[in-house]
Amino acid sequence: LNFRNASFITSAAKISQLTSDGGAEVAFAGRSNAGKSSSMNTLCVQTNLARTSKTPGRTQLINLFDIGQDCRLVDLPGYGFAKVPLELKEKWQLALTEYLEKRESLCAVVVLMDVRHPLKEVDQMLLQWAVASDLPVLALLTKCDKLKSGARKAQLLKVREAITVFGGDIQVELFSSLKKLGVEHLSQFIETQCYR
Ligand code: GDP
Repeated sequence: LNFRNASFITSAAKISQLTSDGGAEVAFAGRSNAGKSSSMNTLCVQTNLARTSKTPGRTQLINLFDIGQDCRLVDLPGYGFAKVPLELKEKWQLALTEYLEKRESLCAVVVLMDVRHPLKEVDQMLLQWAVASDLPVLALLTKCDKLKSGARKAQLLKVREAITVFGGDIQVELFSSLKKLGVEHLSQFIETQCYR
């Protein structure tokens, strides 16, 4: 897979507007501000790949990026946004739910959580849903540079312990876009899932 040459394909509000549902897709999901765009940019060694998704008007959309060999990265709308009007929030969640439930090519999910505030209720819902849908999950504890080495490791162990209640196939790793930590894990996870 060619992460470096990842290119924007399209934005869509509904899955019916997306490109054909073939090949393999790995979706990135997380609460707003969890570091989703940064992680995608870091993975793809680009500075504004996922900024595309932050262009006003596109933030509520599902954004697709081509990584070759009929594989795609999918930037899902961020969830858990406090300042959004209710009506918009519902529309937003509808697109997210529709994608997660209906997209055949979806083969795995990367869940981004700030290392300092992991496993919020909405994160737990997503993990539960992924497990119920038999989708492998890589949970990344983002911005891990914000914690000292000891605290960071303790947090990793704590989250690994806590997610055992969900069962399923959930891996947890530390990640930092700033320090380029965990990038190898992320790319290997995607390669493995796309070629499964
Ligand atoms: P998104 O809303 O989930 O796409 O989050 P962004 O990628 O836009 O990041 C939200 C904020 O966290 C921004 O101010 C980033 O600069 C910051 N951030 C993202 N990744 C890291 C990281 O690895 N380390 C640190 N210290 N800050 C980060």
